[in-house]
Amino acid sequence: MPEVGRTTSARAPESLRMPETLRALRLWVATAFRAAPLLVVAQCLLAAVQAVTAPAQTYGVKLLVDGLTGHDSATIVWGMAVILAGFGVMFVGMVISGPVQDTTAERVSGQIYRDVLDVTVSVPGIVHHERPDVADKIELIRDQAWRLGVSFELLLFVVGTAANTVAVLGLLGSVHPVLLLLPILGLSRVWSAFRGFQRSQDAMERTTPHDRVMNRLIEISKDPRSGLEVRVFGLRPVLTRRLTELMDERLDIQETALRKGAVLDGTVRICFGLVYCAAILWTLWMAQAGRLSAGDVVLIILVAPQVDQLAGGIAGNVYWMGEIVRSFARYDWLRRYAADNSWSGSSDPGPTKLREGIALRDVGFSYPGSDQPVLRDVNLTLPAGSTVALVGENGAGKTTLVKLLARLYDPTTGAVLVDGTDLRDIDPDAWRKRMSAGFQDFVKFELPAREVVGLGDTGRMTDDAAIKAALLRGDAEPVIEGLPSGLDTQLGRKFTGGVDLSGGQWQRLALARAFMRDRCLLLLLDEPTAALDPEAEHTLFERFAEASRIAARETGGITVLVSHRFSTVRMADLIVVLVDGQVAEAGSHAELLAGGGRYAELFEMQARAYR
Ligand code: ADP
Repeated sequence: MPEVGRTTSARAPESLRMPETLRALRLWVATAFRAAPLLVVAQCLLAAVQAVTAPAQTYGVKLLVDGLTGHDSATIVWGMAVILAGFGVMFVGMVISGPVQDTTAERVSGQIYRDVLDVTVSVPGIVHHERPDVADKIELIRDQAWRLGVSFELLLFVVGTAANTVAVLGLLGSVHPVLLLLPILGLSRVWSAFRGFQRSQDAMERTTPHDRVMNRLIEISKDPRSGLEVRVFGLRPVLTRRLTELMDERLDIQETALRKGAVLDGTVRICFGLVYCAAILWTLWMAQAGRLSAGDVVLIILVAPQVDQLAGGIAGNVYWMGEIVRSFARYDWLRRYAADNSWSGSSDPGPTKLREGIALRDVGFSYPGSDQPVLRDVNLTLPAGSTVALVGENGAGKTTLVKLLARLYDPTTGAVLVDGTDLRDIDPDAWRKRMSAGFQDFVKFELPAREVVGLGDTGRMTDDAAIKAALLRGDAEPVIEGLPSGLDTQLGRKFTGGVDLSGGQWQRLALARAFMRDRCLLLLLDEPTAALDPEAEHTLFERFAEASRIAARETGGITVLVSHRFSTVRMADLIVVLVDGQVAEAGSHAELLAGGGRYAELFEMQARAYR
């Protein structure tokens, strides 16, 4: 049975082991080929041919010089032919590679962006949003998705560098095998660049939490919703001071890494340059002794910038290969995380009609990463066709219970049974299509009013009759009537001509959205009317309860309502009182009042306050 976050460890691969590296490399190449197979093959061939052009032309110059000094016309012709053919390849390459490369890169990065988005939204649970370690990894992947996007160009670079390495090694070896030591010494540059890369990567990961907090602080300081509190409580200096501290810490970590990397790389480069100068002097000495030709000396001098470029190229490749492989390894981790948490074993189509209802059997729950039980030994039956109210103090576990019913989480112990079928066995998409929800912290979708409501049932987003019925159920018609272009009005201050609404008006639209699905099996209302006054809430629920009873006769649909207002709660068929994550009492309003327990006490307290 699938369980949230159990199979894939939250550890994304930071220090990569060989199998992870190989898997990342395979994913990288496979993704590029899947996006544009023919173009990618053509580009790789072109990159290889272009990479051997300069070494080949250098060899042509050596032939030319040897031909001229040895008065050998056949060698002169060969030398000229190689040089001219090199110019031809360069010209053709220059004309065609730019546009083809751009087209391929666009296709590959488009494919990768789509894949990353698909994978992220395909996880049916919400653990990845609420566990900081997992959220950090996903944020890093999203932030660095551009790296995956540009990875195709690096793939070409790798192919080109490989071809170039073979060609340059061939040239040096053709003069004297001892010169093959030069590129081997050049590997020290690869090592120094790699160390620099590791340092900067490490610094970046250490500063990810800084970035997350900084972004949140910036959001708070510019979000109009927090503007009031920021001003009333005089929070600006606190926000600015915290931002400055975080920025300083972040800069400090990054600068230290950069400085150390630059010192090491600079030293290694100078040493390598000195060794190359010695190699040129040695070649000259060998030529004077008649053991090498004039062409060989010219070749060694001309190939110097190519060896430097090659070492730099490999260093750059190693640097970027490391970056890209790590990014692909994280992406691979995300894909496996999504696959492990896809609840693919949950394939039961689920009921289209509730006969018995939803039963919670010995349900216990702790949030991932915490041992603290939030719900304990919950045994409860929500009968088909009923309205159930959850009551309890803040932190009693009401919202958590609602989340389990929506299967945003699975219970840690026990089970939620829908007409006897474990909710873990029911396809989460099928279950969610048959439920709807309205929450206190609803989303203010800044879209045209029609879509703000229509999103509640995407299949009927343009069905005005359905939207109007939902508006009626949510008592939100007056909100639309007050808008300049009715349902076509763009909502949200960020848009030119966009209309902003009051908290209560937004809430009515959110409620209408929750009512779009009119034949759902489970409607979860978690304080969706907190922004309305008690009387408005009471009227709304009276009307809604009547309509839902009629619909429930056909579907057996259950409405679960969380509210602090007893005028609303008392209408429910079943009232469940939660205390510290346990069911303290359950029954109808009359039964609970007669029982004289916690409910009666709370009810009396609220009634006294109103009197
Ligand atoms: P209620 O809806 O009754 O106010 P909740 O279900 O929201 O209560 O919370 C119950 C307990 O679970 C609280 O102690 C709360 O701090 C804790 N809690 C809620 N959400 C999370 C979460 N995402 N991670 C860890 N603990 C949580």
